[in-house]
Amino acid sequence: MDLVTQIDLCMECEICSDVCQSYLTAQKQAYLPISRLKAAGKILQGEKASLEEIEGLYTCLKCERCTKVCPQEIDMSQIVRKAQSELLKKGDAPLLVKKVKEQMEEIRKTGNPKLGAPEKRWEWLPEKFPVKESETLLFVGCMPSYWLKDIAISSYLLLRKLAIDFTMTKEEVCCGHYLYNMGEIELAREQFIENIENFNRLGIRRIITLCPGCYRTFKDWLPELIGSMDLEVLHIVQVLLPVLKEKGDTNGLKYPRNLEFTYHDPCELTRVGGIYEEPREILRLCGINLIEMEENKDQAPCCGGGGGVAGNFLDFAVDIAAQVLDNIPTSDVITSCPACFLRLSHASKKRQKGKRLYYVSQVLEETVNRSV
Ligand code: SF4
Ligand code: SF4
Repeated sequence: MDLVTQIDLCMECEICSDVCQSYLTAQKQAYLPISRLKAAGKILQGEKASLEEIEGLYTCLKCERCTKVCPQEIDMSQIVRKAQSELLKKGDAPLLVKKVKEQMEEIRKTGNPKLGAPEKRWEWLPEKFPVKESETLLFVGCMPSYWLKDIAISSYLLLRKLAIDFTMTKEEVCCGHYLYNMGEIELAREQFIENIENFNRLGIRRIITLCPGCYRTFKDWLPELIGSMDLEVLHIVQVLLPVLKEKGDTNGLKYPRNLEFTYHDPCELTRVGGIYEEPREILRLCGINLIEMEENKDQAPCCGGGGGVAGNFLDFAVDIAAQVLDNIPTSDVITSCPACFLRLSHASKKRQKGKRLYYVSQVLEETVNRSV
């Protein structure tokens, strides 16, 4: 069904407003999901939207919470994406679009969204990596490679310690998530082709990602734009579960600290990818007692980092993240998304929430280290 027809299906029941963190935080008319649909409808039919309406589109987290509760299952994220794509083409709202465009140009030029020089991509490596042939690629992702190096290091060491076969490449470039997600479909296609050419050159048939965004990009968006291919895409929690299960049966795993944790579900892994039991099961295998948020799994809140909102509206993204932190019952929080890790730990510092964030591999690596 085309997107304009989907917009017309809206019954204006406003069930979606009750779950839209963006609207609930800002309380602005233009941030209501139905306002976003109306603004997108105008743009998709060639009409001009006001700056306020465009702001409403650029503050959508693309979290898909509204779609989950919508009786018509209206695909808000895709509708907003398509409207943003039209705005990029027309050059409307230059101030809002400027940062997005700069980020996109940087990704195509350097292979990452302004996080560092391409030759520094492997600076996080704790040892000389014995580059070898393997059909499995550890796709580290931009954020862990440049900014959140502990995530890259712990994941790498964990996979090595568990004797999971993989290779890596210094030629890794951004998966293209930002390009597709912000509506720049042609640049996304170019990025996907560059990645596929790299994978084919290395003989890669299986990818392990650390980031739910990379996972979704390779699993859903890449085949959508350039056709299906012989490539298995897995998030690291899917790879770890069977291996740790075996280990749990034989050695017994025990996380060495006496802490209580909450697991924060990332939108793209959970609501979109349906992966929420795997990380919980892994953590249980490590003897970790999880205290759940009231809204969890496919009802979990977005960390505030979705939809590229933080790029233009950082304080607003921090407001949303701070509210999420207020609803997390423990001081120690585990997630399996580098972007959620960044957004929530940043908000915790900014708003003195006293939360400590962990990427799932950090906790697991410590557990396995003590148990091997
Ligand atoms: S995708 Fe998320 S932020 Fe956007 S309208 Fe729906 S609930 Fe609100
Ligand atoms: S829940 Fe769906 S049908 Fe109801 S107002 Fe929201 S988008 Fe429209």
